[in-house]
Amino acid sequence: MVNKALALLFVITIGSVLLAWQFLPEPVATPLIGGSCNVTMTEIVASAQGDVYAMDESAADYVAPDFLYLTSYSVEGDSITEPVLEDVPAALEPQQSDLALQQEAWQVFTTLIPPADRDMVVEFNVFTDGYSNTLAAVGQLSESPTDWMLEVDVADLEDKDSLIFTIIHEYAHLLTLNAEQVEPDQELVDDPFNPELQIEKGAACTYYFTGTGCSYKESYINVFYERFWVNLEEEWSAIDVMQYDEDASLEYYAALYAFYKAHQDQFVDDYSVTHPAEDIAESFTYFVFTPKPTGNSIKEQKIAFFYEYPELVKLRSDILNGACSLD
Ligand SMILES: [Zn+2]
Repeated sequence: MVNKALALLFVITIGSVLLAWQFLPEPVATPLIGGSCNVTMTEIVASAQGDVYAMDESAADYVAPDFLYLTSYSVEGDSITEPVLEDVPAALEPQQSDLALQQEAWQVFTTLIPPADRDMVVEFNVFTDGYSNTLAAVGQLSESPTDWMLEVDVADLEDKDSLIFTIIHEYAHLLTLNAEQVEPDQELVDDPFNPELQIEKGAACTYYFTGTGCSYKESYINVFYERFWVNLEEEWSAIDVMQYDEDASLEYYAALYAFYKAHQDQFVDDYSVTHPAEDIAESFTYFVFTPKPTGNSIKEQKIAFFYEYPELVKLRSDILNGACSLD
């Protein structure tokens, strides 16, 4: 039995009581490709706006909701098959049995991402922790760490713009952490939240250590890290270790937010300061859904970074065409 909760890595968490939600003014709708497109880049980006680490007074009373798996699927090409229904409380059975909605979420993913770019995904899971909180996640399979699962929260599928943003963020993890980019490490997959193991593996890695493994020299994430993170590493690491102290989670979030405010010109949003792997994922998502930057701030350089790779420029175009074809 795979312990899926342990295999969970690189979640995108947005909203929740903990997280003050500050919507920007209504954006001007810019067509994605042409006049016939049903979604717009500005609305997709706007759906993800808000400072996730800016806490309000209710933060101290916040209790994370239960996280439950509803359904697991195998992936075969463009299709998901063999749904396995988990035991869930009766209240969740209607959501669990709505296989059509789960299919629809999977089809958003396959419409956005070309087949050859998602062949590492062999499993699709549907979970819920209620509205907002964790929206989606990816993780390696413990029985075969070169393979990955994509997971979505069934309670967060209604807002199509937000779902598109979230799926591209999760895809960016697959793009930057897959076996061609980062060497799969069975010990880390089996024991992902062990701080001592992380330190040991990090020390043995010549290039950037992602937390899931040692990156290759020419990997996107190593090049990104070398260019944008080396100067921040010491200050950020002192904050990052705080998350392992269960009594200090509020202090951790507050310190992370202060770090963001101190380096705001370097990050596309505050969630990006969570981890270099989150930074490259958010920057990639902005690369896809915002115009090519014209300025030279570090956050603009992070978006422009992906234009250095012709295969990613092609992928961006494919994703935008796919987004345009969604209902
Ligand atoms: Zn993420």
